[in-house]
Amino acid sequence: MNNIGVLGKDCCGCTACEQICPKKCIIFKETNEGFMYPSVDEKVCINCGVCVKHCPIMTTPHSDGVKNVYAAKYNDRQTTIKSTSGGIFLAIAEKILNEGGIVFGCAYDENLVAKHISVESISELYKLQGSKYVQSDISGIYSKVKNELNSGRQVLFSGTGCQAAGLRSFLGKDYDNLLITDIVCHGVPSPKLFAGYIDYLGKKTRETITEFNLRSKTQHGWGCYYEYKGKTKSHYGNSDDDLYYNAFIKSKIMRESCYGCNFANCDRQGDITLADFWGIECINPKFYSKDGVSLVLVNTEKGQKLWKTLKNEIESIDSTIELAVKMNKNLAAPSSRPECRDTIYEGIDGDFDSYVAQKLYVKPSLKRKIKALVPVSLKGRIKYMLKKF
Ligand SMILES: Cc1cc2nc3c(=O)[nH]c(=O)nc-3n(C[C@H](O)[C@H](O)[C@H](O)COP(=O)(O)OP(=O)(O)OC[C@H]3O[C@@H](n4cnc5c(N)ncnc54)[C@H](O)[C@@H]3O)c2cc1C
Repeated sequence: MNNIGVLGKDCCGCTACEQICPKKCIIFKETNEGFMYPSVDEKVCINCGVCVKHCPIMTTPHSDGVKNVYAAKYNDRQTTIKSTSGGIFLAIAEKILNEGGIVFGCAYDENLVAKHISVESISELYKLQGSKYVQSDISGIYSKVKNELNSGRQVLFSGTGCQAAGLRSFLGKDYDNLLITDIVCHGVPSPKLFAGYIDYLGKKTRETITEFNLRSKTQHGWGCYYEYKGKTKSHYGNSDDDLYYNAFIKSKIMRESCYGCNFANCDRQGDITLADFWGIECINPKFYSKDGVSLVLVNTEKGQKLWKTLKNEIESIDSTIELAVKMNKNLAAPSSRPECRDTIYEGIDGDFDSYVAQKLYVKPSLKRKIKALVPVSLKGRIKYMLKKF
């Protein structure tokens, strides 16, 4: 077979094939788990092989590896509160917008569905700030990026490694006016599970959930803390207290392709890669900030050029790729697939309360209860010490 249909569960869902198909005979359909996979209309398909050629899994775009590594934070600490780590994405995005460019990234819509959108003004950038721990809908976005590039406009695209690779594969060539930032990614859960969980929280709290932030800094600063809001009340806690968050951290609910991710390594697809600089409080305590510190990998000459223009907006110190890999395992390998992933999505279509109770709830062990009492910054120190010896 000369079309994308052979990919099966290895498909990362980037939709490059759907967007490139000259016959428009590929559509993405939702599986029971709630992930989107390509379906080819064999009656219309002419087996031209364009989808295979532009698939980032079948033909992974070339990368030269990492050139420079930094710990960095954006000087505008007020605004960085809404960012996940040190706000470096925001600093880069503001630079592009100030030069008349356009920024593509992931935002929640009014129903808390994660989607890639474009932003053209700084006042709208808050929509893209913050990690949404769910697979985003990126359909149609690569074509829009290409249109903007062809019009000569400066474009910033931000996404996961597979989405960045999908864009590179779709475009088939580099553009001087394109900058890509990718994130170090742990994996993505299904939008259906995410939506079901939000609904479940709404029923539990008897309020419609209007905001769901799994990296809130409002109460305890940078770490793994959630905050969700109804109309009258906000709820806070750490990753161990929330069933979805806990399952995400433990990699129980990822898309199948995430467990064999082609991009969980140092061959990065972005010109610049962003992540949390976990352990900075031990490596360089003076540089630690409770508002967050980013790990920044500068991977291309274009990335280096942009990075130099940020010197007044950010504070940074040099680091090494060895340290980055040591503190961020998804730079070395994909997340491990726990055995419970075999059954975790079963029952998702039935009563969601019992689904959550049976599949996501784990009786806390004594170890987990003790761990929950340890502040995240201290956990980082312990992790660093354990890795050192
Ligand atoms: C699903 C996921 C898993 C991650 N796993 C890790 C990890 O294991 N280790 C680690 O160090 N960092 C991880 N990160 C990255 C980290 O959380 C921060 O995004 C990164 O440090 C950049 O922070 P920032 O403060 O510069 O920018 P932020 O303001 O946090 O935003 C960065 C960009 O992330 C993009 N983004 C947000 N959600 C999504 C999404 N669902 N899909 C695609 N793009 C998205 C937005 O477009 C935004 O442009 C993950 C992020 C996501 C979304």
